[in-house]
Amino acid sequence: GRDVTDQRRAQDLVVAALEKERTAVERLQAIDEAKNEFVSTVSHELRTPVTSIVGYTELLQDGTLVAPDTAQVPLLDSIARNGQRLIVLCNDLLLLSGLDSGDISWQAEDVDLDAMLAEVQRATDALLVGRELDVSWERPSRPVVAVGDGSQLERVLLNLVGNAVKFTEDGGVVRVRLETTPAEALLVVSDTGIGIPVEEQDGLFERFFRSSTAQEKAIQGTGLGLSIVSSVVQAHGGSIAVRSAHLEGSTFTVRLPLKA
Ligand code: ADP
Repeated sequence: GRDVTDQRRAQDLVVAALEKERTAVERLQAIDEAKNEFVSTVSHELRTPVTSIVGYTELLQDGTLVAPDTAQVPLLDSIARNGQRLIVLCNDLLLLSGLDSGDISWQAEDVDLDAMLAEVQRATDALLVGRELDVSWERPSRPVVAVGDGSQLERVLLNLVGNAVKFTEDGGVVRVRLETTPAEALLVVSDTGIGIPVEEQDGLFERFFRSSTAQEKAIQGTGLGLSIVSSVVQAHGGSIAVRSAHLEGSTFTVRLPLKA
């Protein structure tokens, strides 16, 4: 009699505990969804006014309406530059909330990584104006085909190369290389820049991560790029790794499965 009652009471307690845990998990999930929706809404809300500020500023800058007073030019330039930064931030936040909620539709097309590298090389030239960097590109110059979303994969490479350029002081070296193994493509971006202290590297691919070195040197950034890069690479069945030491440069290696 008593044993059975005790057993039942114990069972009831376990059931109640499980139930409590389940509601806690559900609550956390609800909070997480609310947070995603908030980020998405805020980004949309920000993007519209910022886009109009940038658009009107450009109209004023180009002098079609009326030639801007010389004293106004630097102010207009600053408004436009900062507006562009906000647009990039909004787009990154929107993409991240899409990645979180899983409602991003990825393309599944053949992507020639060799051609992509050539494209990114051209885009990078704009970043190098006024810089003293030795940037070299090494690619097989034959199609290297992966399957996935071409524009997202291009974003991966643009981001890694952009970081290498941004975090390497003049006089430094940046190397970009594409090579293949029988089953994989390897994209390797290395630089002789400020590096990332080993003890900080655990958080590198997390949102809003900024190394202490980047902050000390006041190099601008949001810390969103690499978290996006890592999500995109993972969504393509690939992986990303880093080797870096404080003030001694960094090497990022992305591995992507080749089209079978
Ligand atoms: P952002 O560049 O906007 O800060 P990222 O997510 O691309 O955002 O990078 C996060 C942080 O990782 C950077 O702020 C910097 O501290 C560090 N980092 C990324 N790439 C490099 C690099 N090539 N060299 C040194 N530090 C880097």
